[in-house]
Amino acid sequence: MESDFDVVIIGAGVVGLAIGASISDNQRTLIIEKNSNFGLESSSHNSEVIHAGIYYPINSNKHLFCLEGNKLLYEWCNRYQIKHKRVGKIVNAINQGDLNNLEHAWHLASESGARVRRLTLNELNEYRKNIAIEDGFFSEDTGILDSVSFLKSLEYFAKQNETFFSYNTIPINIQKNKNNFKIQIKNYDSSEDEITANLIINAAGHGAPEIAALIGYKIDGDDPNVPILRQHVNRGVYFDIINNKINHSINNLVYPVPINREKMQDHINTSGGLGIHLTKTLDGDLKLGPDAEWLNNDDEMDYINNGKKAQQFYIAGKSILPKLNIEDIVPAHVGYRSRLQTKNNQYADFLIWQDKQYIHLGGIESPGLTASLAIAKKIKNLL
Ligand SMILES: Cc1cc2nc3c(=O)[nH]c(=O)nc-3n(C[C@H](O)[C@H](O)[C@H](O)COP(=O)(O)OP(=O)(O)OC[C@H]3O[C@@H](n4cnc5c(N)ncnc54)[C@H](O)[C@@H]3O)c2cc1C
Repeated sequence: MESDFDVVIIGAGVVGLAIGASISDNQRTLIIEKNSNFGLESSSHNSEVIHAGIYYPINSNKHLFCLEGNKLLYEWCNRYQIKHKRVGKIVNAINQGDLNNLEHAWHLASESGARVRRLTLNELNEYRKNIAIEDGFFSEDTGILDSVSFLKSLEYFAKQNETFFSYNTIPINIQKNKNNFKIQIKNYDSSEDEITANLIINAAGHGAPEIAALIGYKIDGDDPNVPILRQHVNRGVYFDIINNKINHSINNLVYPVPINREKMQDHINTSGGLGIHLTKTLDGDLKLGPDAEWLNNDDEMDYINNGKKAQQFYIAGKSILPKLNIEDIVPAHVGYRSRLQTKNNQYADFLIWQDKQYIHLGGIESPGLTASLAIAKKIKNLL
């Protein structure tokens, strides 16, 4: 008997939506989402940066999907009139430690395939009027976008292709049959239904390991045929800058120099992020963050910024913006990264793992928003 759907995608974040929009032209697709709408988790709690791909180990998934995703995302934004701006990013060295690491960061960036250039003395002098900078380089293809409009456009295209969406729904039991899956779902009103699908794509973000376990996969690497699927959660907090003089004094993103090339991935693995930086919004304002803090198992993802980190953000912000005062910052949003567990603390890359009729997307943290269309293209090719 024919299955109800060719493909069931679990999770309507940017990755699930991008895959849905891409495959649904010739696959009967259903997207199941536990929240009442799309994109309410990581996909709407991030920096809205279109990354260029300059920080990742060469040829890693993060590097390659970011590079391709960057081009696809600009094309998409232009084609469907999604607000965006190619503002560029300054990687700025402020102190001796940064200067020591700058050459390594520059080398990695220039090998990445993204367009980067060293800042000239004239540019440095111009920037010095507003930010602390001794030396640095510029990433041309870094930009910002209206991520909500992007998500909406993906949902729209998936719906145009007659993709079904089931919001407020979770799978509670998944049975793997010889030729398909039987999925028992629970709806918002606690009613239950049963559907069948030829293929499951797990794009559930933080919930991805749980879904894999529901199907029967061991998530800790105990089965040699299954990669480690467990993820850890890292919290990133933002503060907005509300002093318009400062907001309008700089038009680019400003990031610290990552620590040196050999140690950089270890650093990102241990700390969880790149260090507090300055991001521009499409309104022209600036925000500081995100910082990085690992959650304990019993910590909730409450998305609340209680403002307790104001002093820490002020100090970090002042080191980049000498004119900043503590009254210039207010608590803003919070996001949660889903970092894949690795053996011996190796580099945590994006995981795209296929086991016959099951595709698992694991550890899709930054630059997942940028990479989403490239990931979707890859999945379409896998089908
Ligand atoms: C602080 C922070 C800053 C970031 N900044 C950037 C940036 O500037 N640029 C960039 O490119 N990337 C950035 N990222 C990364 C980017 O936001 C993510 O990679 C991307 O949003 C991941 O999308 P997703 O669809 O995999 O996950 P999500 O958006 O989390 O979507 C997963 C969906 O699955 C649903 N789900 C979970 N469990 C179940 C279940 N059991 N049943 C049904 N549905 C379920 C969830 O409700 C959710 O809607 C950032 C991330 C963070 C945390």
